[in-house]
Amino acid sequence: MVSCIHGDFSSTGRTYTKGSSCSSSQPVSFACFPCKLFYNYLSLLNRFISYIMQMVRIIEDFFSLFYPKLCAACGAHLLQQEELVCTQCLYNLPKTNYHRIEENPVEQVFWGRAKIAAATAYFFFEKDTRFAKIIHQLKYRGMKEIGIEMGRIFGAELKETSRFNEVDLIIPVPLHWKKQKKRGYNQSELIASGIAESMGKPIVTNILYRAVETETQTRKSRYKRWKNVENIFRVRSADKITGKHILLVDDVITTGSTLESCATTLLKENNTKVSVATLAIA
Ligand SMILES: [Zn+2]
Repeated sequence: MVSCIHGDFSSTGRTYTKGSSCSSSQPVSFACFPCKLFYNYLSLLNRFISYIMQMVRIIEDFFSLFYPKLCAACGAHLLQQEELVCTQCLYNLPKTNYHRIEENPVEQVFWGRAKIAAATAYFFFEKDTRFAKIIHQLKYRGMKEIGIEMGRIFGAELKETSRFNEVDLIIPVPLHWKKQKKRGYNQSELIASGIAESMGKPIVTNILYRAVETETQTRKSRYKRWKNVENIFRVRSADKITGKHILLVDDVITTGSTLESCATTLLKENNTKVSVATLAIA
């Protein structure tokens, strides 16, 4: 007498009684008809899935001959397990490690300007290097995935430090709605969503907004940059950030004027605390 899902039955498989449970190691040949059908269906489904996976791999390999996946930084062919940036580039990324250092140069940018709890930037932005290309691909070449991926990597490191892991929510520096419509996305929001995913914190994009459309900050003096963004941000539904520690996220910090303006606006609300994280420092 052996068992299957439907109960005990003889080795001939002709008689069985309902009630007892099936042991998973039961050979299929001893199963009753409904179980046999079920086992057959499962193994067929398994074979079908592995067949589809194999086909996908073959198609991927075929297309990679014509459209190889390239590293967004150095342009080298990516290995199958690599995503967007090759292992070598990630290993050689000129990281600041500022998130582990108090009173670091990013925090010093805000001294006497805005009361920032903690601030950091992930890597040094140096013009015409392969690492500057990461930012360029994200901002001007529509490579949205790289913002999310770099955010994920950055977020995993921020999570390891108590100074950053105590934040309650993440807010990206907003673009003016007209600019966002034109570009199709907000690069800071992509980085913030990657950070949020790794840190397990919520990302909030509907509270802080840019009320005034401004000219680009590039090629402006420090003073003009500040005047250009002074009082241009607003907060709606302020009660949602009362007493919260906010992590403000941007792509690159240069003079810090935009981040200072955002932070000043957020700090006007009840009992808020603001920290800053940017992907790079120029
Ligand atoms: Zn590379």
